This record gives sequence, structure tokens and C-alpha cells, in this order.
Amino acid sequence: MKCEIITVGTELLYGEIVNTNASYLARRLKRIGVDVSRQTSIADDVTRLKNCLRAALERSDLVITTGGLGGTEDDVTREAVSELLGLPLTRDEEQLASIREYFAAKGDEMPDGAAKEADVISGAKVLSNSVGLAPGQYVPVGDKAILLLPGPPAELRDVFENGAERIIGGSGAHIVTETVNVFGIPESAMSDIIKGVDCGSATVGTYARNGELSAEVTVNAASKDEAEAEAKAVADRIEEAIGEFAYGRNAASLAEEVVRLLSEKKLRVTTAESCTGGLLAKRITDINGASAVFEQGVTAYSNEIKRSALSVRGKTLKKFGAVSPQAAADMAAGALFTSKADYALSITGYAGDNDPKKGKVFICLYDGRDCYIRQLSLTDPRYTRSRIREIAALHALDMLRRCLCGLPVVTERWLAEGDSVMPDIKIGPFYVKQKDNGKDAKKGFFPRRYKFDPRRGSFSWLNVVRVVAFCMAFVVLVVSSAYILNDYMERRRNIKASEKAQEMFNDPEQYIENNDPDFIYIGPEDILDNFRVLYMQNSDIVGWISLKKNNGQAFIDYPVVQSTDNDHYLRRSFFGDYATGGTIFMDYRCNATVFSKNTVLYGHNMKDNSMFAQLLKYGNASFYNAAPIIDYSTLYKECKFKIFAAFYTTTDFNYIQVSFADRKEFLAIIAEAKARSSINTNVDVTVDDTIITLSTCAYIDGIEDARFVVMGRLLRDGESAGGCWASDNPDALDIRAEYVPSGV
Ligand code: ATP
Ligand code: MG
Repeated sequence: MKCEIITVGTELLYGEIVNTNASYLARRLKRIGVDVSRQTSIADDVTRLKNCLRAALERSDLVITTGGLGGTEDDVTREAVSELLGLPLTRDEEQLASIREYFAAKGDEMPDGAAKEADVISGAKVLSNSVGLAPGQYVPVGDKAILLLPGPPAELRDVFENGAERIIGGSGAHIVTETVNVFGIPESAMSDIIKGVDCGSATVGTYARNGELSAEVTVNAASKDEAEAEAKAVADRIEEAIGEFAYGRNAASLAEEVVRLLSEKKLRVTTAESCTGGLLAKRITDINGASAVFEQGVTAYSNEIKRSALSVRGKTLKKFGAVSPQAAADMAAGALFTSKADYALSITGYAGDNDPKKGKVFICLYDGRDCYIRQLSLTDPRYTRSRIREIAALHALDMLRRCLCGLPVVTERWLAEGDSVMPDIKIGPFYVKQKDNGKDAKKGFFPRRYKFDPRRGSFSWLNVVRVVAFCMAFVVLVVSSAYILNDYMERRRNIKASEKAQEMFNDPEQYIENNDPDFIYIGPEDILDNFRVLYMQNSDIVGWISLKKNNGQAFIDYPVVQSTDNDHYLRRSFFGDYATGGTIFMDYRCNATVFSKNTVLYGHNMKDNSMFAQLLKYGNASFYNAAPIIDYSTLYKECKFKIFAAFYTTTDFNYIQVSFADRKEFLAIIAEAKARSSINTNVDVTVDDTIITLSTCAYIDGIEDARFVVMGRLLRDGESAGGCWASDNPDALDIRAEYVPSGV
């Protein structure tokens, strides 16, 4: 059957409206096996239209007109056909009644011209119009025919699909169409594939629309069931031949198919877009029911927003740039992380016309575990800015569609025109190339699959281990910080306490005046003035010890206290607070006023060098030579001691003996001390001398009770403090050699 289409309307000729009626009709006719041999557009003019109709009727079996069936003066199609064929127009009462009804229902009066729309060419079959007023008319002319259809597209479709199509297709015909939707191969490739498929009696048309393809299978059969079965069978065969690039049946778009799949699986997607500026989100949200599958879309154009809204790492932007697979992956991961979605799609690329890299686009699909990246290189100048964006959005949808269908998300069988081979992607620190899945990953094309850094949200045992390790490290950090802080605070407290005591000792008058004008001293009358303030603070005070270098600089300078036992001041400051450094204290057995034969003082060996820590320096003769004197003041008298021995020992050596049974015992202690001493001094000690012993702990591996001891003897009457001298003692007793662990 030869067919022509005449679209009537002056506005069509002026280009004021697009002639969609012609394309619609041509397509629909093709489905039922009717080829359109000519299309004409013509002005609303009776004579010209008549001439045009006449010529068309000579050439073709069927002439279809659209437009010019309304009630206004310029609607002349009915008249032209009537005059051409010499068939009168008669008013169809049924049509007139329904036109009247139409206006009555609106409460309007029927306009004068409207009745004209009920005029029917004699012999014509009236085709009702359920959308508008003017019906279609099918006018047989011998074995040929003229079909008059209304101009408004909705009315045209209504009349054609619900009446005209069946007349043209043959009485009793049942026409069924099944569409196979396709994405990812060129139209020519799709046509080639279809050529190899047995299509039986079906007509198959291929169409490309907005970057997507479709193959429409139309079957015209005697019964509806027969037509449906045949159409489905052919569509099945085509779908199978096209394979994974066929994405569905009768879907209006890829976006619709993706939304359908997501809602079927009760899954959700979120988007992060740069160059597409929200187009992908729009494609998804254009579809009815998108709210169930789409939560949020982020359009992040600037790097700043990519960082703040999508947590794209500065390192990624700096090292790889905003248009890079790494940035795409970061965007997707960030989008997924900030939403409750199951999938994130991200797009970043160059679409700007003046951009030298225009057409380079990276798309990423991230499912919380795997990260798939597809690169497009749409460098052909025919790709406009908007086209690049459209294609990018479609590829993103395609990746998700493939993922939802269990297909490889990236595949080497990619045949789309203009998509170039993907160059090697540099693998950043967080992209671990997964083991090649067969030949897919061999070449540098889309088929690259990256395992994404699991730092973002998703569950894995590795994550659990990381979190536990992090928590443990955090606890350790907190605890050790607390210790360090506590240590620091205590050290500060100790220093403050020592300074306060020194101030009270060195300048009691000023201290009293400045701090307490009502200070009243209650205590022994005859004590030295320096001790009065200290005594009021703590009546356990028995003296003051001061060790100075020859230049006068004191390195040990503390009050000395005495309690009834040797434990009281181990962890207590002079002022009574808890202090790990304790206070220098005198052995409880000693006479603090009149020296015992041996006055024993204890002090901790503090790590911060306070208390008696610096005594250990006396192990070197050079240190001794710079500070050989112990200044010790009782409450009543300032005294000096010449150091004569400094040694390591264990508590096996009873150096803390305070009084002695006889001369021999005393001299034995002195001899032992000198023998052990690390230094040989020129200070002699006789049986008549009084000595002082300063004892502190020495931390020596493997020896539990190591001590370091400094001994001095009181200056004899009239003796000067000078002239002390020492040399290192190479024969000093070695504490390690003689040490016998307890219990052996
Ligand atoms: P009406 O009763 O509305 O006057 P009609 O059958 O007389 O309908 P026209 O007057 O020719 O049709 O056109 C009406 C409107 O239909 C036009 O303004 C235009 O919007 C649309 N239309 C007409 N012809 C076409 C066409 N070929 N393609 C697309 N739209 C068309
Ligand atoms: Mg009109």
C-alpha cells in the first residue's frame, strides 16, 4: 500500500510549530507495514489543498491529512475533500449532539462555528474523537481512500489508535507492539544484529532517541493473543541476540528501568555530580515513584564543595585533579557515606566548549564495597556540552542497571560510538586493583574494577579490627596522657612546694610581712630565725640540707624532717600533701639537736633530678672536687661536713647504723665505706669524728635494694672547709660482683 501524508496548517510552513504529526504517523504506519512515500505540508487554503489532494490521490492508495478540521474559518480540510470528490457535507446529528453536550457541560453556549465540526463527507466513516470535538473521517475513493485526522497531536493519536489504525491494517486485524530497549551499542550495530534474527511476520523498526535505542516489534494478526505471542517471541529473540545491552521491554527510558529495578529490589541510590550539574538526579526523579529509591543528590561544582559536602580528600584533588577516577571514587564514597543509600553514582568531567579536555568524563559506581569506574572520551566536536552531559548521565544509569542485573558493570564489549579506550588509571593509595576477572581486565578499557578503601562505612572484619585497634590506641593515648599530665602536675607541685620552703627558709622576715602580718611564732625560743616560719608550717622540721657547687649554686636545698618512723615522709611533702618525691627525712633513731655519731638522711632518687637524685654524681671525682661540702643546719646551729666517701651498696652493708657499740665498730663502717667508694678523697675520719650519711635509691638492673650513699664528716673545731680533693677509685668494690640475690 502506497501512502502519503499531508499536514495542513500555515503555521507549519512558517516553522512556528514542529511537524510531529507527520513523524508520529509515519512511525505508526511503518509498524503495520504501510510505507509512507511522501509527506507534504500545505497552507490552510482550499484551492491549494484540493490540488495537493488530487495529485496525491493519483499517486497513492491512501492519503492522510492532519489539521484543519476545527470550527474556525481557516479550517478548510473537510471542504477541500468534499469539493474535490464532489461529495456533499452532511451534518451528523449524533456528532452535533455530542458537541452540544460538551459545551452544555461547561455551562457555555455552543459557538457558531462549532456545528461545522459535525459536518461529515457523505460516505465517510466517522472516527470518534474522545479528546476533542472534530471526529476523524475515513473516505473511501474507489479502491483508494482519504483519511482526515484532527491537528492537535493528542486528538490525532486518539483517533488514529482507536479507529483509523484498525481500518488501515485491515478489518479484523490486531496490532501489537513490543519494544526492546537497548543502550550501549551503536544503532548500526543493533540493526546488524536484528538482521540475523528470524522476525517472522513481524515488522521491526529501530529507533534512536536521546542516546537510547529501541527495537519496536509490531505484529498484525487475526487475534490479539496471536499477535501478542508472536510479538513477544520475536522480541525475545532480538533481546537474546543483543544480549546484555538490551535493558528491558517497553521501558520509556533507561532511568525508568533503573527506578523499576531499584524499587523491585527495595534499594536506593544517591548521586554526586559535577559536570552534569544534577542532570542524573533529574533523570531519576523525573520518573514516577523515584522517591522510594532516591534519597539525595549532591551537585558539587567547586572543589571546596566537593571537599565539604562529599569529603573528597584534598590529597586526591591535589594529586589527581577534580576530573580523575580517584576524584570520582571519592565523590561516590562521600555521597554514599552521607546517605542511607545502597549505591552511589558520581560523575566528574569536562563539558565546557572551550575546555581542551572537553569530553573526558569519569563516572563511578560505589556499592559500599566495590568501586567501578567508567571513563568516556567524547572528544568528537559533534559532542556538544549538553550532549556530553546527557551521555554521561545515561552511562551512570547504565552502570547501575548492569550492577542491579548482576552483569559486569564495566565490560570490554563496549561498542558505543565515540567512547574511546580508557587509558591506564594511576592507582592512588586507596585504590587497590582487584584481581583480574578473566579477560575483562586485560586491556585498558572500561573493564577496570577497583576495590575501594574500606575506610568508608561498609562492614568488613578488617574494619572491625581497625576500629578495635583504633579504640585500643585511643585508650592507651588517653591513659598515658593522663599519666603524663599527672606527672607534670605533680612535678609542678613539688617544685612549688620546694620553692615555697626555700623562700620561707631564706627570707622568713619578708615572707611573714608579705604573707601574714599577724604571724605569731609559737615554738622553741632559741631556734635560728630561718626556721621560724617553717616550724609553724611543720614542727617535724629538724634541719636544712644544702649542697652547693663551689660557685654557690645549690643543687640540693631542702628542709629535713623527722618522724617517729621512717615511712611517714616517704610520700608526703613538707606541707603535708601527697607527693611521690616525699621529703628529705632523718632516721627516726637519730638525735636531731645534738648530732648522733651518724646522722642518717634519706631522700628519693627522683627522675626529674629532684630530692637526692643528684647525689649519684658523686661517683665522679670531678664532681666531688666542685662540691665537696655538705651544709647542714640543725634548728640551732649551721654546720659543714666534708664528704669522704660516695658509693653504691646494697642494704646488706649496715651503713645506716646511728650509734656504735665501740670504736672498732665505727672504724669498720668508715673503712668499708672508703673501700666501696667510687672516689678516693683526702678527707680522713678518726674515731672521734661525727658523720652524716645521705642515702638514696640506685636503680641497677637485677639488684633489688641498690643504694647510693654519700658520707661526710663534721668539720672539726677550727678546721676550714677548703682543701678537699678526690680522685676516681679504680679499686672500688663492684656492687654487681659482690651482689648475692636474697634467698640464695
Ligand atoms: P482545532 O479544532 O484545534 O482547530 P484542527 O484539526 O483544526 O484542530 P489545526 O487548527 O490545524 O487543527 O491545528 C490545531 C493545533 O494542532 C495547532 O495549533 C498545532 O498546535 C497542532 N498541530 C496541527 N498540525 C500539527 C502538526 N502537523 N504537527 C504538530 N502539531 C500540529
Ligand atoms: Mg483549527
